[in-house]
Amino acid sequence: MRTFLASIIGLLFFHNALISQAPIKSSATDIYHSLQKLNFLGTALYIAAHPDDENTRLISYLSNEVKAQTGYLSLTRGDGGQNLIGPELRELLGTLRTQELLAARRIDGGEQFFTRANDFGYSKHPNETLKIWDKEAVLNDVVWIIRNFKPDVIINRFDHRSPGSTHGHHTSSAMLSVEAFDLANDPSVFPNQLESTEVWQPKRLFFNTSWWFYGSEDKFLKANKSNMLSLDVGVYYPLKGLSNNEIAALASSQHLCQGFGRLSNRGSEKEYLELLKGNTPKDPTNVFEGIDTSWSRVEGGEAVGKILYALEKEFDFTNPAKHLPALLKAHKAIQQLKDAYWRSLKTKALENIILDINGLYLEASATAPHMYPGGNLPINIEVLNRSSNAITLKSVSIANGQEEHKNIVLKENDKESFQMNLDIPKNTPYTTPYWLIEKGSIGMYTVKDQELIGRPESPAAFEVTFELTLNGYPMRIKKPVVYRYSKPDKGELYQDFVVLPKASASIKDKVLIFPNDQPKLIPITIRAHKDNLKGEIQLHYGKGWEVDKEVQFFNIEKKGDQTTISFQLSPPTEEDESYVSPIIKVNGEEISKELIEISYDHIPKQTVLLPTETKVVRINIDKAGEHIGYIVGAGDDIPESLEQIGYKVHKIDPMTIKSGTLSQFDAVVVGIRAYNVNADLKFKQPFLMDYVKEGGNLIIQYNTVDRSGKGMENLAPYPLSLSRDRVTEENSAVEILAKNHPVVTTPNIITAKDFDGWVQERGLYFPDQWSKEFTPILSMHDQGEEALKGSLLVAPYGKGYYMYTGLSFFRELPAGVPGAFKLFANMLSLDKREKQ
Ligand SMILES: [Zn+2]
Repeated sequence: MRTFLASIIGLLFFHNALISQAPIKSSATDIYHSLQKLNFLGTALYIAAHPDDENTRLISYLSNEVKAQTGYLSLTRGDGGQNLIGPELRELLGTLRTQELLAARRIDGGEQFFTRANDFGYSKHPNETLKIWDKEAVLNDVVWIIRNFKPDVIINRFDHRSPGSTHGHHTSSAMLSVEAFDLANDPSVFPNQLESTEVWQPKRLFFNTSWWFYGSEDKFLKANKSNMLSLDVGVYYPLKGLSNNEIAALASSQHLCQGFGRLSNRGSEKEYLELLKGNTPKDPTNVFEGIDTSWSRVEGGEAVGKILYALEKEFDFTNPAKHLPALLKAHKAIQQLKDAYWRSLKTKALENIILDINGLYLEASATAPHMYPGGNLPINIEVLNRSSNAITLKSVSIANGQEEHKNIVLKENDKESFQMNLDIPKNTPYTTPYWLIEKGSIGMYTVKDQELIGRPESPAAFEVTFELTLNGYPMRIKKPVVYRYSKPDKGELYQDFVVLPKASASIKDKVLIFPNDQPKLIPITIRAHKDNLKGEIQLHYGKGWEVDKEVQFFNIEKKGDQTTISFQLSPPTEEDESYVSPIIKVNGEEISKELIEISYDHIPKQTVLLPTETKVVRINIDKAGEHIGYIVGAGDDIPESLEQIGYKVHKIDPMTIKSGTLSQFDAVVVGIRAYNVNADLKFKQPFLMDYVKEGGNLIIQYNTVDRSGKGMENLAPYPLSLSRDRVTEENSAVEILAKNHPVVTTPNIITAKDFDGWVQERGLYFPDQWSKEFTPILSMHDQGEEALKGSLLVAPYGKGYYMYTGLSFFRELPAGVPGAFKLFANMLSLDKREKQ
């Protein structure tokens, strides 16, 4: 098992030889920059809660101007947000955002860490956040990362003293950082960590404040700044031809799934750091002031510094290979250091410089992108010395595999390439994000291996070790096994070589609703990851459910091809929630995984294996009406959910609405944020109101308003004003105010029980004022807050009903929550039965 230290070194290594992407080919100025960083012995850690919280200007400044080893600890991977570029949500969105953070760090030069905390969605207050997260476990992870990364300075993005003023995750990140700052050095705290690391005391803790935290630029201008450092982060780097803020903009523009593509910026720009702990720096522009960041920081380091500082001064940009003797001398001196942390860290950094000055190219590329446990395949080895230095390849070996003794003298620019056989042992785990292997809770991922905690991604499936001598001096270099290929429309591409099962299975619908006792077909798509795949498939299902066939057989000839096999599933008569999952058997081996590939141009391709399962829900649900018109908003899956309970849903492009076009529908539903994303919809409002007047039921789901509450007037036939009120606790008690209103009695009787099992939240952007024509149906509130009555408002208008709801049906219906289905069916059916 690799130690955490090795993993940090892995990250450093990662900076120069990326696990998943084309290897970085360093120019002489890149090498010079690495050399400058090699000569700086100081570390800074930036802490916040989400992908995109981080201040890339500051991270880039610390990494590129100060030359510090700089990290960003994002407590979560951002699973809870929305995705502007594709279908990935929840854990798949977290996987995508993890890669976007790594892409940002490749640009700003930082490293990336995470805790096991899961982004469970919006949280108003750290009290709620820290209850849903396992606070002790997240604190454990923050302390663990501090003890291993050993930052001299820690910088919080958020203010730990203002709970309730921003997202609860934000304040929690700052509170945990403040706590961890004091605990990391206490051996009685999380003592089990000390088996593989040691205590560490950071020197200073800052809060990266800005005018935003003061409410206005004017207020911040007048604020007392005697306790603040101010750094000009707009510096220009002539060696890169870029300003620091230009690099920062490129880095934060990697957060594409959050719509963060942005303009670059140049020129002087200030960042302010309020000192929270530690002594006040005498120089108010230097976070490391008074901390020795030279080689004399470590015992025996002066000898190393003597060699490397001189080299930095006389670096030859036109012939860096000539520095090999001095670099080897420094390598030898670093091996004498007693301090294991700096020794390992600087050894790896120096080895990368040594490879780079010689233009030494080492690559292990598999001949296929994936293989199954028990299989084997050839891998291509390429070794090339592009300098006149005396370099010999002694041997090449693959982890748990073959070893080749070559003893080849690597002549200048004379490429050595050969194949080796990679055996994949039968017990090799599949390649998938390590934090998704075990089932987690709403607030936490489950990670059993302490050494993996903190790491941004799973280690490479296989590594190849190159044993070399340079001027007779021995060196071992490890490279991950990659897969290199080309596409006519993209050029050369690299991705991880991964270990996959022989087959994977998927079911398109993650939730299936059975509104009566009719059976439904469950189509299962089987994909072969090897040629000539023969096997059988069964469907596992819960008590009371029945399938038409116990076993079916399949035969897929070609790797990559797929076939679909269906089972007919009959529900029980009583209401029930259960799961079905297919089990594939191939040569006695059982497989029940779905393979999801996440592929975008700005990140390396990701393969994620998740358990194949579908939630099946038997609901005794009554409804009236048949045809529903759905005016599409920002996009939600409610139409598909309504079809599952037997409605015919007709999606309506708002632009096509004219007088009378809606009259064919028993009810019309307006998708979430429809008025926000389609500015023309408000001009169609008279047609919507006419529809209601003539007897239609109109349901408008949540739309957003800015802090002034403006922008959504005339949404209803009577005065109604939207607010930013929301109830984020999905299990908060719900009181039914209008007990006799048909919307809670007909055709389904709604009780408090129907609010059990809701996911993520109750609702958002509730109206806070409405005229007397509206009946507020429900009352709910988060802990310690006032009751909110605007979640569902119903008003008769003409012969029909107008309904406005901020309840999160767009989350609850796709999640298969029975009570949400019944309430929504009642809304669609309101008064319909009597009229029929
Ligand atoms: Zn955030």
